[in-house]
Amino acid sequence: MAGPVRDSLVATEGQLVSLVNQLRLKNIFAFVTEGVELGSIGGALSAMSFRTLNKRSYLVDVLAFTPRQMQPLFDIIADESVTKLMWDGRMDASELLHGHAVELRGALDLQLADVDARRRRESFFKQKCRLRRRGLRMRKITKEGFKYVHRLNGLAGAAEEYGVIPPRQRTYEPVPQFDQSRWLQRPFTDVQIEYAAEDVRYIMALYHIFSKRRYIADEESLKLQTRAYHAIYRAGRRDKGNIYTMTSLMPLEILDLPTSQDGATSSCHGCRRDLTKKSFALASADKCFVCVALDKEQGRFPQPVNRDSARKGAVRGRGRGQRGARSGGVQGGTHHGLGVTNAVAPLAG
Ligand SMILES: [Zn+2]
Repeated sequence: MAGPVRDSLVATEGQLVSLVNQLRLKNIFAFVTEGVELGSIGGALSAMSFRTLNKRSYLVDVLAFTPRQMQPLFDIIADESVTKLMWDGRMDASELLHGHAVELRGALDLQLADVDARRRRESFFKQKCRLRRRGLRMRKITKEGFKYVHRLNGLAGAAEEYGVIPPRQRTYEPVPQFDQSRWLQRPFTDVQIEYAAEDVRYIMALYHIFSKRRYIADEESLKLQTRAYHAIYRAGRRDKGNIYTMTSLMPLEILDLPTSQDGATSSCHGCRRDLTKKSFALASADKCFVCVALDKEQGRFPQPVNRDSARKGAVRGRGRGQRGARSGGVQGGTHHGLGVTNAVAPLAG
């Protein structure tokens, strides 16, 4: 992988100026960020990957430039009128905001379009099959508790489901991990460059498929939903100690944004989001539907325990792939699978 792979690298000021001009001209591109613990406490941005409609990919080595040199590119990221096609941009948005004071605007998060299309076309039974996990058996997935709960598709999973890449062989062999911690080392390896290029290639391919199938019926609505989705970590970087803040389940009140008729909000004791009462099963419930579902998935059931002693040991989730960011299911699976939880709060306060 010598020439073509390395050709996409943007590491000199001339290359950066040329890319900025290209992106301004195109006005729409697929976009991902790469780095270590992106968007979480202790995270750092390493690179930004772009792909234009005419199938050209670029990998910007962020560490090769000063903040002043990066500013014109950051201005495009913050420009509402330039469309960024993304897949689960929550951590990208958090890293850009908290690490570089850049507000990501004008993004279309295709992960949302995927969930929205699925909830329209699929039966509840099909959705149950997606929700099913080791700790979450079919019989536990009731319409009552899971009507609003949807499994997120990771980028690789979606690429597979929509035929962008061939289905992976289902084996029980462990898949080799991509070493995310290498992102702050230089020079980039060919594997890293290829990895970043693959992300934007999948996103662009999915965009074409979703457009053809009319999954993005209303771009303006999707932009509003995306803005709410990407604002989840607006108040601060994600705290990995709270397993409810990054799961493979679609957060509530994003696809169905709250309206003034939905009334007052209260804070969910799991994800800490302020949500209207429609997101809680009962007025007395202290966790939203998604956080309750997550407890069930992890085998934590509400029981009358003292809140102070309500700490449990490690629980295992099931990650199905190895990709880090943008892999809804994957990120949730691998991350929350390793955490020590502070769960088990009684249902009624
Ligand atoms: Zn919640």
